[in-house]
Amino acid sequence: MLQKNKLYLKTFGCAQNESDSERVKTYYQDKGYKLVDDWKKADLVVINSCVIRESAENRVYGLIDEIRKAENSKSKKKKIILTGCLVPISKKTIKGVDEMMPIKKISFKVEALRDKNRAALITISSGCNNYCSYCIVPYSRGKEISRKMDDILKEVDEVIKKGFKEVVLIGQNVNSYGADFGEKSIVSMGKKRFLSVFPRLLEKVAKKDLKKVSFISSNPWDFSDELINVIAKYPNIDRLLHLPFQSGDDEILKRMNRGYNKKEYLDLVKRIRKEIPEVRFSTDIIIGFPGEDEKAFQNTVDVCKKVGFEIAYLNKYSPRRGTVSAKLYQDDIPMGEKKRRWNILNNLVNQKKK
Ligand code: SAH
Ligand code: SF4
Repeated sequence: MLQKNKLYLKTFGCAQNESDSERVKTYYQDKGYKLVDDWKKADLVVINSCVIRESAENRVYGLIDEIRKAENSKSKKKKIILTGCLVPISKKTIKGVDEMMPIKKISFKVEALRDKNRAALITISSGCNNYCSYCIVPYSRGKEISRKMDDILKEVDEVIKKGFKEVVLIGQNVNSYGADFGEKSIVSMGKKRFLSVFPRLLEKVAKKDLKKVSFISSNPWDFSDELINVIAKYPNIDRLLHLPFQSGDDEILKRMNRGYNKKEYLDLVKRIRKEIPEVRFSTDIIIGFPGEDEKAFQNTVDVCKKVGFEIAYLNKYSPRRGTVSAKLYQDDIPMGEKKRRWNILNNLVNQKKK
């Protein structure tokens, strides 16, 4: 029998990368590759990279190094293709890499090779226009582009036909889905204003034969009443809502360019709870953003106490090249202090159920 070339695919980072990787798998299978679960057995290694924090980026370099160091004069040299978020922000080919492949090369027409035991991941938009001051995503993933609603609904129908009962709709900010279609339904909170078609898309998906419809991420400033009403109306929409707040301190939120303050966030939680009493929340928090003194940190603790999150993803601030916060502010909170605050929040939110 003909020996197939072997591919090892490593995915770092968020659900959007996982979703992209599911299409990368099909792309290479169609080229005749067989997937293997260990890079040592592979001829080709594809790395789908993440750069959200320095530690994530370093794990990518670490893997490339590990592979190259293990090679000797007798072994066949592996081909390494780098894709994902490190590619668009790199000026040169990364050391040890043979090819830098923009993830855009793998079109949405390529069918995803999905994990049957999990919810089907469905990307609804890519990129981001929000420019939170700490965040590299608008640079690494470019501006927000929404997929056509018909294409998304067709994909949902396909996964239902394949037997999936749960879907997760994915975008960096799903609430602004369709803003680039130029339709007029304006949502606003604080000072940000734009168009949103997301509640309509969500309703169309929820009407289908699905046990659970989830979505990530939904940001506070454009979480509209229309969206709350759609969630309330369809019991198959996930009651665990991911609503990142990043910080509970108004001054820090302003520096983060988040477009809401502590009171507006807590009011939104209240508004959602009023319409959907059984709702639960999860969140993302950045610990040790520049200038986060004890008082600012206590505001974050206070939001956690008031909301009672089920899970909080705790991220120690990491300055990222090219971002506004990295240019304007010193990373002035020592690592030891970031760890102390991390422990406090972890005990408060994530340990309480154990
Ligand atoms: N678009 C989503 C996800 C963004 S990235 C959203 O806005 O919620 C996921 C999380 O990584 C963010 O919510 C934030 O908590 C964290 N993050 C982003 N940039 C970071 C940085 N420079 N340092 C530490 N954490 C960061
Ligand atoms: Fe980054 Fe903010 Fe966009 Fe989320 S909304 S991807 S945190 S810039």
